[in-house]
Amino acid sequence: MRFVTEFRNSELAKKLIADIRQTSKRQVRFMEFCGGHTVSIFKYGIRQVLPPTIEMVSGPGCPVCVTATADIDKAIALALIPGVIITTFGDMLKVPGSRSSLQKARAEGADVRTVYSTIDALKIATENPHKTVVFIGVGFETTAPTIAVSVLQASEQNIKNYKVLSLHKVCPPVIKAILDAGEVKLDGLICPGHVSSITGANAWEFIARDYGIPCVVSGFEPLDILQCVEMLVRQVEKHESKVEIAYKRGVTPEGNLQAQKIMAQVFEPSPAKWRGMGEVPDSGLKFRQEFAPYDAEVSFDIKTKPSIEPKGCLCGEVLRGVKTPADCKLFRKACTPENPVGPCMVSSEGSCSAYYLYGDDSGR
Ligand code: SF4
Repeated sequence: MRFVTEFRNSELAKKLIADIRQTSKRQVRFMEFCGGHTVSIFKYGIRQVLPPTIEMVSGPGCPVCVTATADIDKAIALALIPGVIITTFGDMLKVPGSRSSLQKARAEGADVRTVYSTIDALKIATENPHKTVVFIGVGFETTAPTIAVSVLQASEQNIKNYKVLSLHKVCPPVIKAILDAGEVKLDGLICPGHVSSITGANAWEFIARDYGIPCVVSGFEPLDILQCVEMLVRQVEKHESKVEIAYKRGVTPEGNLQAQKIMAQVFEPSPAKWRGMGEVPDSGLKFRQEFAPYDAEVSFDIKTKPSIEPKGCLCGEVLRGVKTPADCKLFRKACTPENPVGPCMVSSEGSCSAYYLYGDDSGR
């Protein structure tokens, strides 16, 4: 399979591993921002083949996981409004809110439907003209342009009963927030591949320039990640900090200008709440005034009680990279993929899920 098998070539992997081991002299800590990378790193046993000089930590790059409990509560409250049909991607169903989940709301009679794209949600809206269809917009820069397109389509086709609860997040501000907090010292950042395909690698320039941290954008196959680590190690050993791309088949310095334009047409930056990190300036996307009729928060007076975090769950600390899932007393005991306590165990890109499925007995 083109662009897959050649990136899993074991001989090339051995060469890269040998190169990393030979080059890596200083003790370093690299963070992979993206949940997709966390899954690949565990699935392919990459931590195990790296030398002891390299410590890997997982970051906050799972959009479902970073959605604040208060925002999950809003989605559930919307689901309970008569005449509302909630449409969402599957991962959101089981994510626990303070007192319920979308899945439980559905079991209690709410009309909550899993869709595979916003095209499905728009179709449901046209088929149900007397109901209001709300799409739960969760995702990073990769997802937001597709949601923006759905809003433009609704506007062009005069579909007035389609709304979006915009819980979108943009990534560079949260990395800045993590670095400014100073809780975790990083020597290199594995920058997200899919997000960078939209933002461009240039979005990470400030990390290399202002914080002196090497950055490399990676793809998701084992050779992509090994090459990325090798490039980070080389920068570290040469005392350099710059942005490089180890995923040139998917990412350019400028990114996808058309997607950026569409996203900016519909949304503008706003503060957003991140699980475990609180409110981060300019890290969310709110509707521009012109598209307010599609904003679920404008269309409905959404009432929620104060949010409650799952007791004992360390998702916030895990997402900030200061704890691992194995540090959580509930990991593999009260919290499993079948019975998740926190979102990091629910999402297929969550750190706890990846550690559970692919980690060793300690979960590391
Ligand atoms: S193991 Fe479960 S309870 Fe613990 S941090 Fe992960 S999701 Fe939360």
